Amino acid sequence: MNSAQFFRRTSYAENWFERVLERVWPLFCLICNQRCDLRLLCEDCWHELPWQESACLRCGLPLGVSATECGACLSRPPAYDATFCALRYESQAISLIQGFKYTRSMPYGRAIDAIMHHALTMNPLIGSQASLLVPMPLHPVRQRERGFNQAMEIARPIGKRFGIPVASDLCMRERMTRVQAGLSAKERKGNMAGAFVMARPVSADHVIIIDDVITTGATVQALSSCLKAAGIRWVSVIAVARVWTRAAG
Ligand SMILES: [Zn+2]
Ligand SMILES: [Zn+2]
Repeated sequence: MNSAQFFRRTSYAENWFERVLERVWPLFCLICNQRCDLRLLCEDCWHELPWQESACLRCGLPLGVSATECGACLSRPPAYDATFCALRYESQAISLIQGFKYTRSMPYGRAIDAIMHHALTMNPLIGSQASLLVPMPLHPVRQRERGFNQAMEIARPIGKRFGIPVASDLCMRERMTRVQAGLSAKERKGNMAGAFVMARPVSADHVIIIDDVITTGATVQALSSCLKAAGIRWVSVIAVARVWTRAAG
């Protein structure tokens, strides 16, 4: 989608405001520093983003042609029923997501919002009458240290745009888990098991977990198990990006 198409999707009032804003306050691409529009990414950098290619509908990992689910999901289905990630977690996707996570600055949030808007418009998961969006909870101590939960900041504009309530109080991270970086896939699974509890009862058919990055899937697996045990029939996962390789056990 080019910028003209992008702006056609916004309302007249937003368009007017954006045109005035661009005149008085020139915007520069977060990646190459060229003049750009309110997505905060220029046309070239937008097209060069590592957009997700053919992926398993269940886990979001690379998939060969003429299949919808990968062999791993067919033989050992995860607790979640579907996954969609806008980008592969590589090159500029890493700098955008880390920039957002560690600076919490509006330009990164704006760029990620534009990416998610583009990727989710007409997406079947969003269109399948999702009842709730659940941002991946952080442990309260970690949230206090960081000052915000990036999954919440990603979920909020998605909920507003697509008219789906955001339930940030549905689940809690009960245990302070070890930092996952440096752990193997098996260790991550053990580290995350039982990390989440329901904070309140819920009756919903379809819950979508929102996260910034999926690495091995151990965290979304743990949260999905918690939601399924609470009676949610269908659990999907939407993330900005996914590590595009299968982790060794
Ligand atoms: Zn650029
Ligand atoms: Zn799969």
